[in-house]
Parts: sequence; C-alpha cells; structure tokens
Amino acid sequence: MSQVYGKRVLSYETKAVFQAVEDLFAQGNFLKILSQRGKRVLVKPNLLASQAPEKAVTTHPVVVEAVIRVLKDGGFDVEVGDSPAIEDMISVMKKTGLDEVLRRYGVRPANFKETVVVENPKGKLVRRFEVVRAFVENDMVISLPKLKTHTQMFYTGAIKNLFGLVQGLQKSRFHLQFPERERFARMIVDLYEMVNPVMSLMDAIVAMEGEGPQGGDPKEVGLLLASLDTLSLDVVAAELIGYQLDQIPILRQAVEDREKGYRESIRLEGVNWEEVKPDHFVLVKEVSDTGFIRERFPWLFVLARNLLVPRPVFLHEKCIRCGRCLQICSAEALSWKEKKGKKFVSINYQRCIRCFCCHEICPVEAIELRRKVW
Ligand code: SF4
Ligand code: SF4
Repeated sequence: MSQVYGKRVLSYETKAVFQAVEDLFAQGNFLKILSQRGKRVLVKPNLLASQAPEKAVTTHPVVVEAVIRVLKDGGFDVEVGDSPAIEDMISVMKKTGLDEVLRRYGVRPANFKETVVVENPKGKLVRRFEVVRAFVENDMVISLPKLKTHTQMFYTGAIKNLFGLVQGLQKSRFHLQFPERERFARMIVDLYEMVNPVMSLMDAIVAMEGEGPQGGDPKEVGLLLASLDTLSLDVVAAELIGYQLDQIPILRQAVEDREKGYRESIRLEGVNWEEVKPDHFVLVKEVSDTGFIRERFPWLFVLARNLLVPRPVFLHEKCIRCGRCLQICSAEALSWKEKKGKKFVSINYQRCIRCFCCHEICPVEAIELRRKVW
C-alpha cells in the first residue's frame, strides 16, 4: 500500500508553507527514509521558464525554500536545479526569486551544464539516457513539481517534472524521435523508473489549468501533496483535478508496470478527498493522436494528422520576435520570413510533428492550437 499525504495551505504565506512542509515530512517519516539513501540530495523543482511565481508556471520559491529548510535541518547536503527548455537555469532562478533563496541557505545550484550517459537496462523503450551530471553527483532526487495541465500530455506533475534532467534542447529531440504520444509517454516512464526519485512534493497551492504548461491560467487548489511513491502522488493529483487515470498516457503506462490492484492500494491521508477537490478545473481537451496511423498506414499519416490534430497557429500581432519557438522546434518546421519590411514566424505544416513545444515555450501566448477548418 502507498500513501499520499495532503495538507491544506491556502496561500504562499511563508510561515504557513513552512509549517505544512514540516508536517508533511513528519507524517510520512520522510527524513528517515531519505537517510537510508545517503546524504546528498538533488531537489528538482519545475523551472520551465522565467515567469513570475504568480503565473503558476514554476514551483513557487517558498515551497522550494520550505523543503530546503527541512532537508538542511535534517543534515542533508542539498543542491537545486532544473533545465529550462530554452533559457539558462540561473536566469530563470533570478526571475522566479529562487536564486535569493539558495543564497540565503548556502545551497549550490546543481551542475546542469555538463551531461553524462547513464545506462538504463530495464527501459522498455530507452536503454540509455544522457542526463545532467547533477544526477550522478547526488545520492537521490526529490521531485518538486507544480500541478499543471499540459497540451500535449494532458497533465504534468512529479513524473514529467523529471524530464528536466535531460538538458535544454535535447528534450525537443525526444519529441522528434517519439512524435506519437504513447511512445513519448513510455520514454518518460523509462526515465522516471531509472531516476527512481526518493520522494516527491507537489505545489498545488495555486495550480495551472487550461492550456498548460505555460499558457494556462492560475487556479487556486490550496494543497501541498507529498509521497514516497511519485507515481501515487501523480495519480492522486490527476484524479483530484478531474482526469481518469486512463486518460493520462504517462500514468497509465507507469501503472501497468506495477502489480495488479496497485491503484486501489493508494491512500490519501491528512485531508478529506471530497473536500479538497477543486471546482471546475479546466482540463486540456482530448487531442487526437495519429501514432497508430503512422504505424499501420504510413501513407495516410500526413493527411490524418492534418485532419485530426490541432496545429500551431501564429498570432503575428502578439509575437515579440524572441525566436524561442525556432530554437526549440527540432523538426525545423519554423523559419523567419519578411513581408513589407516586417519579420514574422512562418510554419511549414508538412514538417510540423505537432509536438506543441513552440506553444509551450512562447512567453506571450502568441501561438494558438487550432484544428484545420476546411
Ligand atoms: S512547429 Fe511547433 S508543434 Fe510543430 S514541430 Fe515545431 S515545435 Fe513542434
Ligand atoms: S511566436 Fe512566441 S516564441 Fe515565437 S518568436 Fe513570437 S513570441 Fe517568440
């Protein structure tokens, strides 16, 4: 049986968050379990992009601070890091206020600049990952995700957060390698099982609903969740906002790797499940996946994709010409064009693999996902 511990926290007021995190660690007896793995801890928040904490794109710095505090008091040697999609980790830390927290506690930013190749013999799809060196330099990883919806994978939490151990733009290469959602999900599950995080603690005080992980809206949920079993935490969080387990490919595949009856064995402790469920959480609408068509009828694939899957549409009047979408597009579907002396992003839909990385990374919501109208 696995436990997920919940704690009601209605704001990011420092004292309240500190107390809640202390309580969660005590309830789950987490420090004792951590000490069995060693002393060096890599704390992995979600630092997707340099957005202010109130935008709910990143794990709130007060939550990260509360975890650092408990770990330092428990005698652990702590490093913190993430690999944002495009930007430099330190500049994202500055914008989110995390650099100030690390300075105050004498915590090092982890080594996310260098990478190492780690063998993954048990992987069902990926048998070796190139990950940041910080992973092998520490005894364990703690995932500190933000609860968010995700346009491509529907939900992102503690497991998907670990994808940040793959450095910067290398992440988008995986999208090119595994454009079908199910295979991409399998790759993420392989990574999760290799990393084997010692525990996870989720910031769901203010979550993100709608077109996450960057373009959605903040949504007050008022919860912190923690568990030694990262998958259980994700299952509880996804169901809490209204998904069914089967709708989330990453979770469905990870659960398939567990024993029969696993889902029924998860217990939510500390809060009343029905009372903490948020009202009307806006989920990502089902987006068709044409992976099965690519496998069985490759000649139909491009047509089916154009018909069934929404495509990125660029709102040129909103675009600030930062070029991030071009940088992240591993399919090389984007280029600059010029009309009447004005530069704009042009897309080649034949090349586009509908990974939505551009939509995810655009800082000003200048990319919409729309189904083609004939
Ligand atoms: S244009 Fe956007 S959705 Fe299409 S392949 Fe490039 S990054 Fe992915
Ligand atoms: S569409 Fe968005 S990401 Fe692309 S250049 Fe414009 S502002 Fe930047």
